[in-house]
Order: sequence, then structure tokens, then C-alpha cells
Amino acid sequence: MKNFTDLGLAETVLKAVEAEGYTTPTPIQAQVIPAMLEGRDVLGTAQTGTGKTAAFVLPLLNRLADDHQRPPPKSCGTLILAPTRELAAQIADSVRAYGKYGRQSVAVVVGGVKPGPQIKAMARGVDILVATPGRLMDHMQGGAIRLDQTTTVILDEADQMLDLGFMPAIRKIMSKVPSKRQTALLSATMPKPIRALANDFLNNPVEVAVATVAKPIELIDQRVMLVDRSAKRRILIDIVGASDVERAIVFTRTKRGADKVQRSLADAGLSAAAIHGNKSQNQRTKTLDAFKNGNVTILVATDIAARGIDVENISHVINFELPNIPESYVHRIGRTARAGKSGVAVSLCDGAEREYLRDIEKLVGYKISSTGNGGAGDEPEPRRGGGGRNGSRNGNGNGNRQPRDGAAKNARPGNRPARRSKHKAKPAAQGAREEARPGNEGDSDGLARMLGQKPGGNRPSGKPGGPRRSSRKRSQGGGSEARQSA
Ligand code: AMP
Repeated sequence: MKNFTDLGLAETVLKAVEAEGYTTPTPIQAQVIPAMLEGRDVLGTAQTGTGKTAAFVLPLLNRLADDHQRPPPKSCGTLILAPTRELAAQIADSVRAYGKYGRQSVAVVVGGVKPGPQIKAMARGVDILVATPGRLMDHMQGGAIRLDQTTTVILDEADQMLDLGFMPAIRKIMSKVPSKRQTALLSATMPKPIRALANDFLNNPVEVAVATVAKPIELIDQRVMLVDRSAKRRILIDIVGASDVERAIVFTRTKRGADKVQRSLADAGLSAAAIHGNKSQNQRTKTLDAFKNGNVTILVATDIAARGIDVENISHVINFELPNIPESYVHRIGRTARAGKSGVAVSLCDGAEREYLRDIEKLVGYKISSTGNGGAGDEPEPRRGGGGRNGSRNGNGNGNRQPRDGAAKNARPGNRPARRSKHKAKPAAQGAREEARPGNEGDSDGLARMLGQKPGGNRPSGKPGGPRRSSRKRSQGGGSEARQSA
């Protein structure tokens, strides 16, 4: 498959693709577009950066170009579910761009903004509705939208929706869509609950997996600086103040941390803005726009911006704090070196974060070159509920680590099995997962595959599920932190 013209797309769609400057379909597009045009369900392992949005949007627009009938009032022909407001807005932008020679209507339904305009946008019926699950449920309950006329559903970034605890909402939403429909599910990784979702809601899907994370990683110059925690802000200012920094994202683990870092950068005279879950949707949109158009050069963010966001020319990603979920590291640094460009990822690792670094290196399969020897005096950060990170690991002897403050703090007593020790508070996101699928554990093989590793490649032979199991458990904890802190 060499050209878009070989795919059998309508003239209006081809013209828009050409206007975007695309000449060749990406691997996911070459596989997904024909399958969707045939009316098949699709289960795709792919993440942002692969061209997956066009892979599902172009066939939708093609169908509307062939046969356009506006859906009845308060209903939608196609529903696209996405985990974050930013990603939903980005998908809607893509629909508008790829559909600029068509006549389709598109509406966005997300939380954090007034519901009135959304109700109005859906009142006459809408061709393509892009929504986050929570706000969509509100509108369904309020009678502003019904899904009984919906013929196509796209679940985008399904694993992130799982991490954010949206599985019960997604199942409820899917139960309201007629079973005679076309469904596509896209996910960066394919943990068991996502497979289960696919089994329940997809009909004999075409399975497509594209390896992508490996590619950007090759183009990223990754460095670790072993530093004292107290020196991090000063070092950060030196790094982002350097002349080779065109546009940078600085990742912190918590919302408060993001604000503090933003203030210290601003105090140093640098152009920085923060984005995280405590900001209003208006602020988030404005900040992201300012970053995209170059009015702000440094974006300080929690993991809310680690995935899905596609901003060009990010020359540097700085991990002010290392993520406690190794997979997040890959998502974070993937914000740079996009579209074939190179990029730099610098991680400031203090003494308490060395273990996180080891987990990351285990996941990516190599040692990241490091400089400095600071951090020896850094104590592990105190956590509520007692039990230091090392204490927890050493204490239970199974390599199972309690996530740092965010998840521990948010562990709900009701989710804690009776015999669990106080060092093993169960994170809230794990609770959310178990709500969806009791007893299910995910697997990180999908990501390993995309990183170009053999699935389970880090697993010592003869010990199935060794490190992989503990890594996933940490991920589950981290999901909570991502949800609560992002
Ligand atoms: P996505 O994975 O959908 O977020 O897309 C990542 C980026 O790739 C976006 O900036 C798209 O504009 C771009 N893109 C999508 N399809 C193509 C293509 N066939 N050729 C070149 N760029 C593309």
C-alpha cells in the first residue's frame, strides 16, 4: 500500500489528506482504513504519534461523504470516547481538518466546562460526537443525548481510560449503543481488562499492532543527572535557560510540584506555564494553545500531558521528578523527537528515585547514561500511613512496592483486603480496575513489544510473571497517582 489513493477514499477526504501534506499512509492507517471501510471491527495496539487518529477518522468521514443523513435530534451517528479533555479536543480538531471539504457536524463533550453549549450542540443531532466518558454519562442521564441511533463507536487510548477508572462508565455507555454497530478500540498497551472489553464489545475484530515507541526512543538523546533533591530547581533553570531549548516540557509528579516549579522558572525570568488537573478547563486550553503557538516555551506538567498531546518541535523533555510507573517515562519522553525529529530527554534523579530509575532501565532494556553523583543524602520521602518505600519492599519480600505519596494517600480503606499489611495499602486505581474485572491483572508485554523487546523479555527464565507482575502492580498504584495527582 503506497498511496492514500489506493485506499478507496472519497475525493473530499483525499483532498483534505493532501492539504495536510500526507503522502503515504502510516502502517496503522494502511491496515485500519481498509478494514473499517469494509465495516469490520478493529482492535488496534497503537499510540499517539502513529497516525492512529486519521486511521479511524478518515473511514468515518468517507462514510459520511458517501451517505450523509443527519442523525435524529439528541443523538449521534458516531461516538468517539477519549480519556482526557485535551485528547478529545485534539481528535475533534482532526475531524475538522480531515473533514474540511465535507459537511459533517462534530461536537465535543468534556468535563470542566459549562454543559449548556454542549447540550445545544447535540440538540439537532450530530454526526460525530467526541466525548470523555464522565461528562457523556451526565448528558445521557440528563436526557441531552441518547445512543440508540449510534452506528459506530471508537474507543481511543483505552488503556488510559482504564487507568483513569473509566471502565464502569464505558461499559454502561456501550450497553446503550445498539449491538448492530461498528466498533474500533485503540490502545497503547493491551492489558487483560482491555482485552476483556474488546471480547465483550467487539465482533470478530481485525487485530492490528504497530511498533512505534521504539522509533522515537532511538531519536531521543536520553540523559540522567544524579543530583541532590535540593539542587534540582537550580539545575532545571540552567537546563531550560540554555539556548538550545526551543520548547520544553518539564514533568513533575504532583500538581503542587508543578505549580512550585513553574513559579521558580517564572521567577528566573523564563517563559513557563503549568498544566494539571486542578486547573480549569479554560486555563488548560489557554495554556496548551500558548505552548503550541510559541507564546510560552516551557510547559510544566503532571502526567496529564504525558500521553496523547501532539505538539510539534518539543526539543526537550525534562523529568524534574522521575515517574514511579516506568511506562510513564516512555510516554513522557515520547513528547519529543516527533515526526522524525531528534530530541533530548533529561531526568533529574535524586537519591530517593534511584529505584525508579532502575525500573525504567529494566523496562527500556538498557542503562541510560548518567552524570553526577548527587543524591546520596536524600532520604526517601515520608509517606502517610507509615512504611517507607524500601521498608515496604524489604518488608514483604516479594518486590511489591507501594507507590509514593499520591497513591498511598488516596488508598481507600474500603478497597483494602483485610489481611493486607499497612505497608501495602491498595491504591485507588486498582480498586477502579477491580470494579471492572475482579481479580484481573494487566500485562506490560504490549509496551515491551513496542519498545522492540521480546514480550516478557525482562522475565528471568523459569519464573513466569516475576518482575512483570510486580511492575504491573506498581503501574496500578501509579494509575491512582496519575488520576489523583494529574
Ligand atoms: P496521531 O497518532 O493521530 O496523534 O498523529 C500523529 C501525527 O502524525 C499528527 O501530527 C498527524 O498530523 C501526523 N500524521 C498522521 N498521518 C500522517 C501521514 N500519513 N503522514 C504524515 N503525517 C501524518
